[in-house]
Amino acid sequence: MDDDEQGEEYLFKIVLIGDSAVGKSNLLSRFALDEFDINTKATIGVEFQTQVVEIDGKEVKAQIWDTAGQERFRAVTSAYYRGAVGALIVYDITRRITFESVKRWLGELDTHCDTTVARMLVANKCDLNNIREVSTEEGKALAEAEGLFFMETSALDSTNVQISFEIVIREIYKNISRKVL
Ligand code: GDP
Ligand code: MG
Repeated sequence: MDDDEQGEEYLFKIVLIGDSAVGKSNLLSRFALDEFDINTKATIGVEFQTQVVEIDGKEVKAQIWDTAGQERFRAVTSAYYRGAVGALIVYDITRRITFESVKRWLGELDTHCDTTVARMLVANKCDLNNIREVSTEEGKALAEAEGLFFMETSALDSTNVQISFEIVIREIYKNISRKVL
């Protein structure tokens, strides 16, 4: 093993954004705790969860921030975005209005973070395909137009949750890494 590489640690701040009730908190708890809570209220939320992912034999810590319901009042503070190097922009495939908000969230991100932030567009609640209002193709097209990764997920049945976070974490690791002492 290369001695210089021993003890290296990476810490990445990633933010979850998107309209209220799209499933941000449940995506995070599914990823970090493998839990889903059918009764979560938009107001409940921890500040962040830390999850360790191994990349190239190195421990990479992802500190993933949840909004704790501030987005209901369109008041996600700049402190929330500060230092973020990755973002998951979430919408709910059963509510078109949440898809239409994606551009506004991308605008927010551009206001508060620089353009190097790794971005994933997350189309959540794909278990509810029978009441879908936004097609997979529309999601993909928006992601392509905006230069985002794209994934359809379900926090309820776990579809693509792990992989969505991991793609963002790997992309950050590849591009910009902040070394922690
Ligand atoms: P947030 O406001 O974006 O943090 O959304 P929450 O995580 O609190 O979820 C809002 C509501 O959607 C809750 O009732 C969840 O149980 C439900 N929910 C979240 N993710 C999914 C999902 O993937 N599938 C289904 N069917 N419901 C979900
Ligand atoms: Mg929440």
